[in-house]
Amino acid sequence: MPFDVEVRGLDLLVLDPEETRGQGCRVPVDLDPADPHRPARLEPAPRPAAAGPSASGDPEILFTFDDGPSPSTTPKVLDILAKYKIHAVFFLVGEMVDSQNKKVPALVARMLREGHVIANHTMHHKDLCRVKQDDTAVSDIDDGRDAIEKLTGMKIGWFRTPYGSRCKRVEDLLAERGLTHFHWDLDPQEWKHNDPKKAFDYVTGSLARSSDRNVLLMHDIKTATVKALPEILDWILAENQRRAESKKRPIRIVQAPLLALEQLPKGLAPWTLDVTARITGVRTALAAVLP
Ligand SMILES: [Zn+2]
Repeated sequence: MPFDVEVRGLDLLVLDPEETRGQGCRVPVDLDPADPHRPARLEPAPRPAAAGPSASGDPEILFTFDDGPSPSTTPKVLDILAKYKIHAVFFLVGEMVDSQNKKVPALVARMLREGHVIANHTMHHKDLCRVKQDDTAVSDIDDGRDAIEKLTGMKIGWFRTPYGSRCKRVEDLLAERGLTHFHWDLDPQEWKHNDPKKAFDYVTGSLARSSDRNVLLMHDIKTATVKALPEILDWILAENQRRAESKKRPIRIVQAPLLALEQLPKGLAPWTLDVTARITGVRTALAAVLP
């Protein structure tokens, strides 16, 4: 059965730390140097290859959303993504998933049904480098994963550390679990200023200058995200029209399940796409469970 192979393939969807080396570095959040419990920080912090360089040669963008799900704003984000036919990555917070809100299970089910990838963003969104006990960091990572896996019944393969906070403790805990931190390239800071215009200007200005793959970080719990997202997508469509007329490379939107397929060993990804394309419904099911 082909599906057996696909399911086994899920275990391989772990980003290889070897591939993350030598790709520049990223400034980690500032930690208080006077804090005696502060773990030693890696200097410089390796930049995790969340999505790697542009695979197509075109400037690329992957949409990722953190800190949800929120029954009030996440459905609006999903509506927008559906309208523009975009499949994103949602880094869920365990306590939001585990909340007593009866709308949450259906909301997470909708994410999967509509072909988004869901991932772990810890249980309580703690700064894993600043919590005093290692055990607190351990349980925040594992409890978040367990909450999502319990609700969905699927294996969660991607992880993003809150605040992008990096230190030896985080690196060690992720390495023990075969994970890497899924970082971002573009952070419009809408979670802080809640200004959709500012977010739009930052994202479109960055994309206009870019020739690489960009992982965009936004927050599906913020109204600024709901307002800025369609504006950004309309800008990409218009910009690609302009680029087509001047024969410039278009901005390509990376679909999250296809990014998961890129992580499969060479040969398996084309085979998977080929075999699932021939069986009605399987491709959608596959997109829903990857990684
Ligand atoms: Zn977050």
